[in-house]
Amino acid sequence: MLRVPLGVAGICAGFSDRYDGDMAMTRPGSESNRVQLLGRELGNWTWLNQVHSRDALLVLQPGQHCGMEADACVGEHPDSVLSVTTADCVPVIMGSSEGLMAAAHCGWRGLEAGILDTTVRLMASSGAKSIVAAVGPSICARCYEFSRTDLERVESCVGISLGGEDQAGRLTLDLAKGVNWILSRLGVDVVFLSDQCTACSGRYFSARANGDVERQVSAVWRDMDKV
Ligand SMILES: [Zn+2]
Repeated sequence: MLRVPLGVAGICAGFSDRYDGDMAMTRPGSESNRVQLLGRELGNWTWLNQVHSRDALLVLQPGQHCGMEADACVGEHPDSVLSVTTADCVPVIMGSSEGLMAAAHCGWRGLEAGILDTTVRLMASSGAKSIVAAVGPSICARCYEFSRTDLERVESCVGISLGGEDQAGRLTLDLAKGVNWILSRLGVDVVFLSDQCTACSGRYFSARANGDVERQVSAVWRDMDKV
C-alpha cells in the first residue's frame, strides 16, 4: 500500500494494490485484508455500495453508513477510516486543516454526475476551509478506450477536451485529467497525483484490462500522533 500524508491535521491517504489482496467489500477475505492493511478495527471502517452517483454521506461515528448506496463519504472523527474501492475509476482522497476528510469514487459517470462537487460542498458545509487532495491510481489515457458519444457527453459537462488515443489509434478518455480539472475548478489543491495506471502497470486489479472482480481500496484516516 502506498501511504501519502496530506500534510494537514495528521490526515493520511492510503492506496492499496493487488499485492495487498482483494478489498472488494462484500467478498470473502476482504475484511481481514482491510484490517491487515491499516491495523485499524473493522468497525471503524466506512465503506459504500458504490453506484456512480453524486451522493456523498456525512459520517459522524466510525463505521457509520457502511454498505449504503453512495460514492463518497466525509467525516472528521479521529477513529474513522473512510474508504472507497476502485479497479479503474479514480479514487480521490481529500483533507483539510480543520480535520475534515473525504474518500470519493469517480468514474466517468460520477464525473458527469458531479460527485466531486457534492463531496467538496459537504466538506465545506462541515467546516473545511481549504482542501487538499491525493489522487490515486486509475486507468490511463492510453488504455481507456471510449466511445465518441460518451466522450462528448463528459466533455460537455467538464468543459475541456478529454480525448486521447491508444496504441491502435482508437479514441480514449483521459479520466484523471477530467478529475484534476474539476478539483482545480473547485479550489482543491492536488498535493499528490499517482502516475500509475491500473490497466497497464501490472500492479493493480483492473476490470477493463483483465476483467478482474477484485478491487483496490483507497482510505483516509487521521494519525493523531502526527497532528
Ligand atoms: Zn495504461
